[in-house]
Amino acid sequence: MGVLKTVSDLNYETPTDIESAIALLAGDDHAKVLAGGTDLLVQLREEMIEPSLIVDIKRIAETRTVDMGSDEIRIGAAVTGAELDENEALKAAWPGVVEGVELIGSWQVQGRATIGGNLCNGSPAADGVPALIAGAAKIVIVGPNGTREVPAEDFNTGPGQNILAKGEFVVSIILPVRPPKSSDAYLRFIPRTEMDIAVVGAGVSLTLNEEGTCAAARMSLGAVAPKALLVESATDILVGKKLTDDVLAALAEAARASCDPIDDKRGTIKFRTKVAAVLARRAATIAWQRAEKR
Ligand SMILES: Cc1cc2nc3c(=O)[nH]c(=O)nc-3n(C[C@H](O)[C@H](O)[C@H](O)COP(=O)(O)OP(=O)(O)OC[C@H]3O[C@@H](n4cnc5c(N)ncnc54)[C@H](O)[C@@H]3O)c2cc1C
Repeated sequence: MGVLKTVSDLNYETPTDIESAIALLAGDDHAKVLAGGTDLLVQLREEMIEPSLIVDIKRIAETRTVDMGSDEIRIGAAVTGAELDENEALKAAWPGVVEGVELIGSWQVQGRATIGGNLCNGSPAADGVPALIAGAAKIVIVGPNGTREVPAEDFNTGPGQNILAKGEFVVSIILPVRPPKSSDAYLRFIPRTEMDIAVVGAGVSLTLNEEGTCAAARMSLGAVAPKALLVESATDILVGKKLTDDVLAALAEAARASCDPIDDKRGTIKFRTKVAAVLARRAATIAWQRAEKR
């Protein structure tokens, strides 16, 4: 096993504003962003990565705040799962997004692990990501060429891969403020009761109209493809409908059809595909019941 480099082996910087962080990242081909470090420090210790510079973004105010605006909610990329779980307003508006990140690891890990780190690390099984995709979240990226916003489903490109260019980092994540009768849910299946990697994760976000019919919906699946998926057909299946057995069966079929999982010790392709269908139905039912109460 590798030996963790001491801080003196690495250049470590703690910029307090976005421009300084960009300049540092743009000036070093082997720079790495540090947020909570729960993935990065493991990768350093295992010598999977050998950065020459670590840029800790936690002292940049924009990465550490949650702004509950009237049109949008802006979550700083370096806000931790534990902090999100304590935010009652966010939990009421987006319970599924919060339950995704607060499933990460143990309480100790949740005190460090950030929503942006979960996204940027690029695990296809990242628990924080499907609910962001289902919630039509926008990822706010800053870099040498300014600021850009990309849909959450377009951010990761494969295992450990994302669209960030040299000098760029994620500063925040934007969720919309939705009409009444909107909610979401995230469920995962793991072989143990906690501290394991999702075999499948499913996020559903939806809005109901006054008659109790679905007015808007999105579904995302994690751990069943090289990156978390937006299941586009789920929108047509749900919108304009009531929550019937036929609708849930169609949703389950859509989930099954969109799976392209791997076979590994946690689950076979057949098992993951079956579980994806089950979790899709359950997450949609929970999101629907939550929306009825809002
Ligand atoms: C014991 C344990 C249990 C875990 N359990 C789970 C689990 O149940 N579910 C799960 O999904 N994950 C789990 N993880 C993985 C990890 O905790 C999460 O992925 C976490 O959210 C990573 O966030 P972080 O802030 O620690 O990221 P870091 O480790 O700081 O960074 C992760 C990667 O993202 C990059 N990065 C971080 N922030 C940014 C940014 N704002 N902009 C650009 N790049 C950035 C870093 O350079 C690095 O490559 C677990 C880890 C451990 C150690």
